[in-house]
Amino acid sequence: MVKAVVGANWGDEGKGKITDTLGEQADIIVRFQGGANAGHTIVNNYGKFALHTLPSGVFHQHITSIIGNGVALDIPVLFNEIQSIIDRGVPKPKILVSDRAQMVMSYHKQIDAYEEERLAGKSFGSTKSGIAPFYSDKYAKIGFQVSELFDEELLREKVVRIAEQKNVLLEHLYHKPLINSDDLLAELKEYKTMIEPYVCDVSLYLYEAVKEGKEILLEGQLGSLKDPDHGIYPMVTSSSTLAAYGAIGAGIPPYEIKQVITVCKAYSSAVGAGAFVSEIFGDEADELRKRGGDGGEYGATTGRPRRMGWFDIVASKYGCRIQGTTDVAFTVLDVLGYLDEIPVCVGYEIDGEVTTEFPTTSLLAKAKPVLDVLPGWKCEIRGIKKYEDLPENCRKYVEFIEERIGYPITMISNGPGRDEIIYRNAV
Ligand code: GDP
Repeated sequence: MVKAVVGANWGDEGKGKITDTLGEQADIIVRFQGGANAGHTIVNNYGKFALHTLPSGVFHQHITSIIGNGVALDIPVLFNEIQSIIDRGVPKPKILVSDRAQMVMSYHKQIDAYEEERLAGKSFGSTKSGIAPFYSDKYAKIGFQVSELFDEELLREKVVRIAEQKNVLLEHLYHKPLINSDDLLAELKEYKTMIEPYVCDVSLYLYEAVKEGKEILLEGQLGSLKDPDHGIYPMVTSSSTLAAYGAIGAGIPPYEIKQVITVCKAYSSAVGAGAFVSEIFGDEADELRKRGGDGGEYGATTGRPRRMGWFDIVASKYGCRIQGTTDVAFTVLDVLGYLDEIPVCVGYEIDGEVTTEFPTTSLLAKAKPVLDVLPGWKCEIRGIKKYEDLPENCRKYVEFIEERIGYPITMISNGPGRDEIIYRNAV
């Protein structure tokens, strides 16, 4: 059985924690898109970890962790990450990397940084991990696929061609040092040595695994609103964040994805630029940021403070719909226990009209939040294991949101730890 764990919003919904929790039952966890530009934070028996490239399954010894063909593979980052978890006492995980994955090259990261510099105040807030230049090259058919590392003749010819093309940009647009094709070849040879033991025909491996009835989790990065087609373009990421893309980015038939678990957080947060209708500011935002997540809402990759807001029903209803949600995992509910009253964004007012349907980007820029206020529960809910044991106002908050977004909340996360989860049969 194949399940996808994906985000409903701007990312940072707690997908890592949900994947880690569901990992107890899984045999295989696959990353199918994105790169080292976002992170999952996971708290377990070994400590607290921020993973950027490794799938969240690496802490379970029974799991095979897979980097699918849809991922932007940053080999040095992958290596450092494997080493860093081993150094902290985690047994060496079983990792496979698709022979069809493409590699983030050092010039992708450089060009990402140069472009941010060039755009200055108009930048997209990139993490400078090379993701946009990487995916541009992939679709322009000038990327390097892992399989090509094993064809030296091809590489020798290709590095010259690529250096020539990149150097036009480097010289005339960015006025930066040029690429030497011999250095590029040396970089690729180094990557070959590093990645060789992990390379696998992943779609074939997964085909066999599905036939054998293995439990497979597809782990998404970021969330619906960062999808290049269905998100807040152009303030999006460069690969699809949707469960449907899991089929492509892992190499499995779409009809094998039987469950789409969409992770939604009990309030909102976002990193980077772009419209964020239910955003809050000042002390109100600082308080939520400080109490949020596990140790505050600061980017796992960049450490930058996240933008904060109230739960947004319009964005989340849309985010769940576009994922094809079967189940909602509702996270960080424990964080809201300090509030007397909890505002929820129930609609957008655009040009004097209220809507609950998420608009395209130019209309979104005009949207003003319509807020409802729900009573808080004013207590700690960590440690509670059964839904009925949650305070009444807390259950009312969950049920209000469930009804408005229109998808069943079957999991509630009330703490960062693997076991801090309440399973629930939705009404
Ligand atoms: P991801 O990229 O979607 O995995 O999201 P993050 O890495 O940003 O995870 C969100 C943060 O919230 C992490 O620090 C988690 O440890 C933490 N977290 C996840 N679920 C819960 C929860 O239910 N309660 C609390 N307090 N923290 C949580």
